[in-house]
Amino acid sequence: MENAERYMRQAIGLAQQAVANGNHPFGALLVRDGKVVLTAVNTVHTDHDITHHAELNLVSQASQQFAPEFLAECTLVTSTEPCAMCAGAIYWSGISRVVFGCSAAALGQIAGGDFLQPCKEIFAQGRRPITVIGPVLEDEERPFTNNIGPSLAKKTSPETPGNGRCAPPRGSLQSAAYFAVKGRSCDRLRKTPQYRWLLSFIHQSGL
Ligand SMILES: [Zn+2]
Repeated sequence: MENAERYMRQAIGLAQQAVANGNHPFGALLVRDGKVVLTAVNTVHTDHDITHHAELNLVSQASQQFAPEFLAECTLVTSTEPCAMCAGAIYWSGISRVVFGCSAAALGQIAGGDFLQPCKEIFAQGRRPITVIGPVLEDEERPFTNNIGPSLAKKTSPETPGNGRCAPPRGSLQSAAYFAVKGRSCDRLRKTPQYRWLLSFIHQSGL
């Protein structure tokens, strides 16, 4: 996809906007003919509805506003790989292509979670083909995994808390982030805006 990284940066910006609104860090947008025709963010907390993931919010708007023929020419760009629920909604909407940033596997290792099956595997169960591209910006600006994600693949065993230059933060998700960066300098890690942003999200979420 042309300009995939540019769209992904916009999706990441939406994810940050979601956090600023008190929700989870996920954003998505719909692109057709090189133009962004819709955007959506996660609104789980503010709507008090656990189904209001960014992709589901986007698909819901899209299916109300656009015909299936229009959606068949659209690409959904999302900051994180769609969960099983959202993948189902994308399939039923008629959208033909998905571009994701952070993979479900990376998210699962950082934050835990359920239904972390790759969306490509879910789409493969359907009769209509959907093109999946991702991860995009794996090592750059993804809120969750920049400077954290690459280390995940190398993680082989938990690091002993407090054995080095900094102790792990409190809380399971914070500890996951800490352990995820094994092999990196904690000082260096803590200087990254992504790590500060992740901790900010954890703090705001009360996790
Ligand atoms: Zn979802």
